[in-house]
Amino acid sequence: MYKYKYLKREFNKSELINLNPIQRGGILTKEAREALLEFGDGYSTCDWCPPKFDRLDRIEKPPIKDFYEDLAEFLGMDVARVVTRCREAMFIAFKMLSSPGDYIVVDSLSHYSTYLAIEFAGLKVKEVPHTGYPNFQLLLEMYRDKIEEVKKETSKLPAAVLLTHVDYLYGNLNDALIVSKIAHEYNVPVILNAAYTAGIMPVNGKKLGVDVIVSSGHKSWAASAPTGILALTEDMAEKILPTATITGDWSKRSFKIKEMPLLGCTVMGAPLITLMASFPHVIRRVEKWDEELEKAQYFVKEIEKIEETRVLGVKPKKHTLIHVESIGLHKVSKKHPRKGFYLYDELKKRKIVGIQPGLSKHFKLNIYGLSLDEVRYVVNAFHDIAAIYGLKIY
Ligand SMILES: *Cc1c(COP(=O)(O)O)cnc(C)c1O
Repeated sequence: MYKYKYLKREFNKSELINLNPIQRGGILTKEAREALLEFGDGYSTCDWCPPKFDRLDRIEKPPIKDFYEDLAEFLGMDVARVVTRCREAMFIAFKMLSSPGDYIVVDSLSHYSTYLAIEFAGLKVKEVPHTGYPNFQLLLEMYRDKIEEVKKETSKLPAAVLLTHVDYLYGNLNDALIVSKIAHEYNVPVILNAAYTAGIMPVNGKKLGVDVIVSSGHKSWAASAPTGILALTEDMAEKILPTATITGDWSKRSFKIKEMPLLGCTVMGAPLITLMASFPHVIRRVEKWDEELEKAQYFVKEIEKIEETRVLGVKPKKHTLIHVESIGLHKVSKKHPRKGFYLYDELKKRKIVGIQPGLSKHFKLNIYGLSLDEVRYVVNAFHDIAAIYGLKIY
């Protein structure tokens, strides 16, 4: 008999501060934690699935139908669906907007799953470059050049362009309006990857002129995995969410109500309900984004006081994901018996986790949702560790 006695999560302890960039925006609200228990059983959302429209987005008890409408409105879009992950939302959009072999133009700081979604959809990728070290700023005007390049090479326009709103490497914020203006001159649809933005900062698709927003519930909406968001304009909804037309050749069975690219229904249980339970909190928290940015700027100022330490990416920071480069902390690792792991050890002693074990030269962290006191505590911990190993604090 198997016994999984290690089903405990070390980093779940409330006294720990977890700085892992992917963890900060997904911490559940109290309401979501309760809902998780309530809806933990299998197809828990499906008790009251309406018989004629048996589809997740039509369920009114719990109020999934209303939630989808509110979600679309919150993002400044017309239609919203919850899928399993941001990457699935990208895959569905890519697949449904393209013909086999088409190009998707993406920014060169896109998440790896963007590339995999393109490959899985049978498409090709064309990248918009960035400036490289140390700012890694995307050259957004070059979306035009890349669209032209695709046009020249294939005599066809790209199926879509994708812009990562805030990238996961440097936490740079991109102006989606620049890209949507360029793409729309060519009538090419714009997909905004808001995995690191929607749910923690205000994002309005209409104002940004985008056609599709994809986001990640477990990353930025205080929801359990797996939850992804696919939000569309009316026009895109027609193209991306057609209902099934297939008929069984022998039985003549058909499934005309089902949204084909969603394979009917998506997240039919607890994760969806956590997203719904946290939604009122999410609506409130995006309004406090300015406070988060102040804390981020304070953190940057303080961490850069450590000898030979700088924050990479565009400054001043417009996001709470921070990429630190520290030649100073790296020099310490060369002489330390634990090598790069000393930094993890020292932080862990101070109840700070989430910096990848072994890293000291380049590491990423996210201070989203920490109180100013907690940010101060983290900064002091870094200063303290640096000083212990003989680095100057300027
Ligand atoms: C985290 C991240 C993803 C992946 O999100 P999932 O919901 O886990 O698929 C995709 N794109 C970007 C830009 C991300 O930061």
